[in-house]
Amino acid sequence: MNWIQKKLQSFVEKAKQTFKKNRPSKAEQANSAWVNCPGCNQMKLREDLKKNFNICDCNHHFDLDPKILFTELLFDEGEWEKIPCPPADPDPLNFKIGDTKYIDKYNANIKKTNQDSAVLAGIGKVNGLKIVAFGYNFAFGGNAMTPRENEQLMSGIQKALDEKVDGVISVYQSGGMSVATNIHGLSTMPKQMFAMKELREAGIVTIGILESKITGGTFCNTYGNDFLFSTNPNNESQLFAGKRVSASVNKGQALPEDFGVSKSLLSLGMIDGIFDSRMEIRQRITNLIRVLLKKSEKESREESTSNVKVDIPTAI
Ligand SMILES: [Zn+2]
Repeated sequence: MNWIQKKLQSFVEKAKQTFKKNRPSKAEQANSAWVNCPGCNQMKLREDLKKNFNICDCNHHFDLDPKILFTELLFDEGEWEKIPCPPADPDPLNFKIGDTKYIDKYNANIKKTNQDSAVLAGIGKVNGLKIVAFGYNFAFGGNAMTPRENEQLMSGIQKALDEKVDGVISVYQSGGMSVATNIHGLSTMPKQMFAMKELREAGIVTIGILESKITGGTFCNTYGNDFLFSTNPNNESQLFAGKRVSASVNKGQALPEDFGVSKSLLSLGMIDGIFDSRMEIRQRITNLIRVLLKKSEKESREESTSNVKVDIPTAI
């Protein structure tokens, strides 16, 4: 190595260290008052986004806490009853990598989100219709599904059957089955599909609402629903594998720009429709259930105690 190469290498090393030092850590990014919007590539204040249910002016949808969804966007008067989570073991294999135990990470997520599992389940009235809702919380470790999340789903479905509700809606945002639980996580897939079949046989309408980042086993299980709608045309990562993973197994062949994006799924017939935003969930699902169950609009409107003022045409 001559002196020019040495000088150059030392310059590159120094530049690397400077950039490394200046780049904020994950924790710093999470605690920052500002966030970069991938939709419009502008910095946005988290407080401003919060006021608009985490929807940017450009209509990019950031993750939303299921508790906020249930209380402020979905259930009448914000009233709903939590369906208790059974105490199933989320870590049957006592999994750990090095010194890091999976159960410690799981417990940290319980503390962080104030949920017993990654799935929140609730029952209440939506525009006068009796509904069981499941909210998948991505902030809970990417909503990796363990036997505990499965038991939460089973108890919610059992409640729906016992109470003979009008519909079950699932608002999805999940990276799939937890790899730390191996076969115990995978075995929850057929259980969920059989349970969804029970709902269909009982005449209960099931509707899957897709946000971004739905992959793996959860993506497969969305097809247990009677209907699938996306909350936004530009929601992404709505296929079994994300763009990066799919590109790596598809060497030499470029993936389409809209790979895994809602509008492409609709054009391929993989989902039934797309809303303009999550603000429409409440009205759209009740319009659909009302038609299917032959409940008159008048009947449902009389029962309605809506606290959300969204002007949506009556078409589904
Ligand atoms: Zn934006």
